[in-house]
Parts: sequence; structure tokens; C-alpha cells
Amino acid sequence: MITVSLLGVPNDDNSSLLKGPAEAPAAIRREWQADVQSSWSETGFDLRAPERLTDRGDVTFSTAIDPWDAIEHDVDRLVALKAPVLCLGGDHAITHPIMRAVRRHHRKLTILHVDAHPDIYHAYQGNLRSHTSPFARIMEEGLCDRLIQVGLRTVNDHHRDQFKRFGVEVVPMGEWRPGLRFDIDTPVYLTIDIDGLDPAFAPGVSHREPGGPSPRQVIDLIHTVGQPIVAGDLVEYNPGCDIGNQTASVAVKLMKEMAGMMLKTHAG
Ligand code: MN
Ligand code: MN
Repeated sequence: MITVSLLGVPNDDNSSLLKGPAEAPAAIRREWQADVQSSWSETGFDLRAPERLTDRGDVTFSTAIDPWDAIEHDVDRLVALKAPVLCLGGDHAITHPIMRAVRRHHRKLTILHVDAHPDIYHAYQGNLRSHTSPFARIMEEGLCDRLIQVGLRTVNDHHRDQFKRFGVEVVPMGEWRPGLRFDIDTPVYLTIDIDGLDPAFAPGVSHREPGGPSPRQVIDLIHTVGQPIVAGDLVEYNPGCDIGNQTASVAVKLMKEMAGMMLKTHAG
């Protein structure tokens, strides 16, 4: 039986405006354990069944070790189990050390990235690890073969230069049409920034950018993936900015559909 490893990465050291995403793994687990939503993914897996979604706890951070090394080490250990790994951030900066670990196990890899922002600044306020920059580091280090960014609505001239430099494939929100899907022939890493959704559905984020997709549109896109989703992350939920538990509820739904697709694409 295939299981999905769930790993919390409670780190928001590199958030530029507000702190808070470090509280997200605990908040998302609380919402999941409240048992309000169905335990089934739309792809037909009961995620509360034994061994379907295995909680591996959180990455532990201490002053003695570089947080990037801590994240890479824990993700590496889980990817080595040959089961899909789903990380709960944390801000989007964590995708960089996660990819260092994932890449070690996957010579062919496409990143499918949903976000309001391209997160490909060379640096932000001098910080090369900024949550606005992980995809610059990922592309510099060759940690994927293709990067596909979907739902963007904050692109500036610097970003466009970076897209050209790194060969990024971009579908800005204005070009997202029903039935959107990609022809991918490698294993997939799925990274979903909660602020990629319209803030009407997911207000609990540090950077609200209206004009985004609904949860349904993002789920439909996830469901189009035909190659094995070997790992992924759900990042940038900021419980302190939430209204009621609205965004926690969306995060749990996305977690279920990401895990459900990891199981579906590994079945058989
Ligand atoms: Mn992001
Ligand atoms: Mn974002």
C-alpha cells in the first residue's frame, strides 16, 4: 500500500512583510483533525485509512544547524522511503531546500507551481533566501528540468528578465482558461502557494492579490496531472490573517487533493 508522508516545515524566517506561516502546519493539522471535512479525496482515497497519509511530524529547527540543512536532511530521509512527500509550510522560501533533497532522487523533474507571484527575484532586500526568490535559486542550481508557473498576476520587468534567463514557462492568471493542462513527461513536484488562490476564498495569507482562481480551478488543474507526483508543498497559509477558519478549510481541501493525486499517480 502506498502512503503519503506528511511533513510540517514551520519556518517563516524569510518572509518579507509579515510572520505567521510558521504557525500553519499546526493550524492545518488542527483543521484536519477537527473532522469537519470528508476524509476522502475526490480521486477516491480515504485519507484517514491506516497508512494512507502518514504524519511524520515537523522539521525541528535549532540554532546549532542551518535551517536549510535541517529541511534538506528531513526531506531527503522521507523521499528515500520511495513514498510521495507532502510538505506543509512555512513560507515559500522552504521550497528551495526541499528541492535540493528531491532532486537528489529524481533525475527528471518538472515543477508545477501555482502562485500569485513568480517568486523568482534574484534577491529581496538583500536576502537571497527570501520567500520572493526560491525559484531563482532552484533554477541556478538546476534542481528541475522544467518550471511551469500558473496563476501569476504580479509580474514585473525583472521577473520577465528572469523568465527569459531561466526558460520559465508561464501561464499568467489572465490566460488561464477552463481545461488548462500541461503535456508533462517527467515526474512532477507540485508547489501550491495559498495566495495563488483568490483572497475571496483564501484570505489567510500575508500578501493578498485579488483576481485569482477559485479552489475548484486549482483542484481541476491538480487533477490533470498524469505523471507521478513525487513530492510537493502547500505554503504561505498565515493563520493570523485568516477570517474564521476559512483558509484553513481551503488548505485542508488542497492537502487532500494533493495527497489524493499523489496516491492516484502512484497506483498500479
Ligand atoms: Mn509563493
Ligand atoms: Mn505568493
